[in-house]
Amino acid sequence: MKLVVLGLSLGSSWGNGHATTFRALLRAYAERGHDILFLEREVPWYAGAHRDLTDPDFCRLAYYRSLAALDDWHAEIAAADAVIVGSYVPDGVAVARFVQAHAQGVTAFYDIDTPVTLAKLARGEHEYLSPAVIPGFDVYLSFTGGPTLTRIEQRYGAPRARALYCSVDADAYRPLGGETRWDLTYLGTYSDDRQPTLERLLIEPARRRPDLRFAVAGPQYPDTIDWPANVERIEHLPPAEHAAFYSASRLTLNVTRADMIAAGWSPSVRLFEAGACGTPILSDRWDGIETLFAPGEAILLADTTDDALAALAIDAGPIGQAAREQVLAGHTARHRAEELERHLQEASQDKGRRTMGMATTDQEAPLTLVAGGAGFIGSHLCAALLARGEHVVCLDNLQTARASNLRALEAHPRFEFVRADVVDPLPASILHRAARFTRVYNLACAASPPQYQEDPEHTMLTCVLGTDHLLRLAEQAGARFLLTSTSEVYGDPEIHPQREDYRGFVNCTGPRACYDEGKRAAEAMTFDFARTGRADVRVARIFNTYGPHMHPDDGRVVSNLICQALSGRPITIYGDGTQTRSFCYVSDLVDGLMRLMESEIDGMEPINLGNPNEMPVNDLLDRIVGLTGAEAPVEYRPLPVDDPRRRRPDIARAAALLGWAPKVSLDEGLAATCAWFATELAEGEALACAAE
Ligand code: NAD
Repeated sequence: MKLVVLGLSLGSSWGNGHATTFRALLRAYAERGHDILFLEREVPWYAGAHRDLTDPDFCRLAYYRSLAALDDWHAEIAAADAVIVGSYVPDGVAVARFVQAHAQGVTAFYDIDTPVTLAKLARGEHEYLSPAVIPGFDVYLSFTGGPTLTRIEQRYGAPRARALYCSVDADAYRPLGGETRWDLTYLGTYSDDRQPTLERLLIEPARRRPDLRFAVAGPQYPDTIDWPANVERIEHLPPAEHAAFYSASRLTLNVTRADMIAAGWSPSVRLFEAGACGTPILSDRWDGIETLFAPGEAILLADTTDDALAALAIDAGPIGQAAREQVLAGHTARHRAEELERHLQEASQDKGRRTMGMATTDQEAPLTLVAGGAGFIGSHLCAALLARGEHVVCLDNLQTARASNLRALEAHPRFEFVRADVVDPLPASILHRAARFTRVYNLACAASPPQYQEDPEHTMLTCVLGTDHLLRLAEQAGARFLLTSTSEVYGDPEIHPQREDYRGFVNCTGPRACYDEGKRAAEAMTFDFARTGRADVRVARIFNTYGPHMHPDDGRVVSNLICQALSGRPITIYGDGTQTRSFCYVSDLVDGLMRLMESEIDGMEPINLGNPNEMPVNDLLDRIVGLTGAEAPVEYRPLPVDDPRRRRPDIARAAALLGWAPKVSLDEGLAATCAWFATELAEGEALACAAE
């Protein structure tokens, strides 16, 4: 395998733990027969005397001076079987985009700082990683495991997140025998958040047991600390002397940083190094430690000074032996290299399945394509189609999708996901079996104004080129095609309610035009395909729809108000709140879309789908406040440009042709939506807390 790694540093271990991690991992990886190129940004603080590895014998090490200079390596990146970008790489977001644009093989992000990274993302700081680039990595490898991995997948859309912990060099760390010099030791740099635990589990026990000997090795401890006389201080202990230090300790203490405790499943390298030396470990307690060392058998856990004193009172020798066995069985660099190889291979197979079209679906069954199927409405549509027995292929570029929408669907045996952008020609995995498609739903398009205005050109192209590509597929397959158009084709309407024969009042020069005019063009093209006999088409004009699976922060009125109400933030109303909207619950809308697709009507007429129950936005707010008990103040902001004042569908045509009418009342729908958002926000807060 050809592997390219873009990491913070391999050449200098000065002031960073990354170089040691990469050196151990990549040496072991090279021993497995792989060819490795490490690309390191040339920065002054790791240059000169601070460079302590110039010519590694296990990989090629090259430096690039600037982002622009990275371009010299694009051929190597493109040819690699896998490319890894590490945390804290300078200009990491741009590097990630460069890698994702050029790499043909698997791409991975290796987070050696997961709790710090997540805390930064929660604060909106994108120093080396941003939410936008996470879904573009095939696998997110993390120093933290456990539930954080699920959160990285669900909240940030990583296709897969896997633990790849730190490890130990078992040749350097082994029992050295010799005299036991201390009863309890601690090896670690001073940190404010670890100090209270050190005080409780080592310093206070030292005061109470003046007959025992203690040692604390590591720099930066303030002079103000009142060390008992029986605590030896060692300011600097070079790595080469760590094994001797542990070997001379009857018991050694592991103290974990607060953010790692909060996240759980975050072993520090100290645990593996001390364990490899056969030194019994007394550790603070955090979730997931039991998955590494069996408490009471291979590790002792302590909360209080009394716990530490109790540990000092026993012969913990067998516990040290058991810890060493567990480290040698699973936590050496060799183990990590094997895990890395496995994660990259799995991601590669998964990528093959996702993009090369190795269908998970039955080889003969007719297929339904849902473009945009990972989004809000699309995910409900896919679920309803699966429930009806269809084989569903969801094509989505994940631009505005929620990863958890997809995750719930991916477990289904008749569901297949293909990641692609409809602006590009459709992937071979779709075109190779075009004949099997009998239905093509086109929902692919960001629907919330902030999202579709973020890249207006892409929105317009999605509507026009995307619809063209999907119509051509329908033509080739002889499939029926359904376009999800929008009430926005009516613009800021002059007639009320809006009937399908109303031609609209749209501003073609304003910021909403990319969407409104894009959808109008998509309709025009769809009807042209029908008019010229190239495809059997249906066009739904969807009015405001709401429900579970909406993006919490996509700026749509229902999700905005509910999320603000639930989180206690000030509630924003754009305009004075007297503008009206009609809100349709998503299950009603999906029912309407499926009826329309299956109806044998003349497809040359668009059909409104929405709930005619019109109300001022202020009324909607009152209901949400009633449901959530929110007490936050309401802030009124200016109405966005071209925001329609009134909106209500005339659904007489849908009723007559499809026998369709919405069934879910606003109160029922809002209650279900609030309950869903409450669960989502609770999970999000848990993540934010875990990350801080
Ligand atoms: P959404 O943003 O949740 O879903 C859109 C999906 O399309 C996302 O999964 C996104 O990743 C995907 N997508 C966007 N551009 C793409 C591209 N170029 N290639 C491939 N995939 C792409 O929005 P939604 O609310 O579920 O809307 C679905 C459809 O319904 C959209 O076409 C929208 O215009 C239409 N619509 C929705 C509403 C509403 O109230 N939700 C109203 C009117 C029309």
